[in-house]
Amino acid sequence: MRYLKPSSVSEAASLLESSQGMILAGGTDMCVYMAEGFCSPETLIDLTGIDALRGIQINRDDHEAGTMIIGACTTIAEIAASEELPTCLRQGAQAVGSPQIRNLGTIGGNVCNASPCGDTLAPLLTLDAQFVLRSAGGTRTIASENFFTGPKKTVRKPNEILESIELPIASCGKVSAFRMIGNRNGQAISQVNASVCLAIADGRMSDVRVAVGSVAPIPLRLVELERFLTGKDIQGMSLTELREPVLEAIRPINDVRSSAKYRQEVTVALVFDALADCAGQYSRVGEGASTC
Ligand SMILES: Cc1cc2nc3c(=O)[nH]c(=O)nc-3n(C[C@H](O)[C@H](O)[C@H](O)COP(=O)(O)OP(=O)(O)OC[C@H]3O[C@@H](n4cnc5c(N)ncnc54)[C@H](O)[C@@H]3O)c2cc1C
Repeated sequence: MRYLKPSSVSEAASLLESSQGMILAGGTDMCVYMAEGFCSPETLIDLTGIDALRGIQINRDDHEAGTMIIGACTTIAEIAASEELPTCLRQGAQAVGSPQIRNLGTIGGNVCNASPCGDTLAPLLTLDAQFVLRSAGGTRTIASENFFTGPKKTVRKPNEILESIELPIASCGKVSAFRMIGNRNGQAISQVNASVCLAIADGRMSDVRVAVGSVAPIPLRLVELERFLTGKDIQGMSLTELREPVLEAIRPINDVRSSAKYRQEVTVALVFDALADCAGQYSRVGEGASTC
């Protein structure tokens, strides 16, 4: 196997094009796949020497809007610790694996691995994230909700590198929360996870985005539920009234981690709990509550 460690994104993109190799970031998924024989690339292109792929940057425009740009090789630990980022994304990152996994694993790896249970994916959907893909031929930007096509499948082409993740600052200024359930506290992969992001004015919800993971082949936005919640009083929500709009949207399966029935019940509870967290943030801070 050839191991290459480029020092710029353009070098990485041309190496990827010419070698048809595979990308290595933190290696927390890739090393498992190679050890278990799921893949044996002839060329591995390690992105961890590219400083431009790391860190969080804020680009404001003249109207104080703009974009928060997260380099694809920013580690999950850095995301978990960043006070600039919205609560749901930080909470999602905090839920990933163990300190060792969070120190090595990257947000770009979590996105490109495209596991339906990836803990940063539902938060990125609720924050309306855009993914910037770079190849030797240029860049293109894909909305997070159009990126995932199936378990471990995305629209990314083999010659493309995920360069950065862009969050509209407008979505970062809302209240948000993430919840997951696993079968133990440490190192547990999510059986179900849920993320909620919304604005609140006079106690009523608007701009609601809800996404869930591990209950469909891809991380899923619950658009009907978002419509149902819009205009409602966040303090007056009950778990029972969420049941129907949540259950109509999800298609969980039975697998080694849990049964479909269990996932259905837990999804409703996690969405409710995330909404309750948002209500708590609102009642502590009041109008203008914001998570970053
Ligand atoms: C013990 C253990 C526990 C875990 N627990 C969790 C958990 O709780 N929650 C969770 O969500 N995940 C978990 N994971 C999975 C893994 O840690 C995450 O998915 C992590 O974010 C992957 O990032 P990485 O940098 O290590 O990716 P890598 O392993 O380096 O790469 C993963 C995939 O993405 C591709 N890739 C990586 N970066 C890019 C890029 N910039 N552009 C294009 N393609 C790219 C690689 O080619 C590969 O196909 C766990 C893994 C282990 C081993």
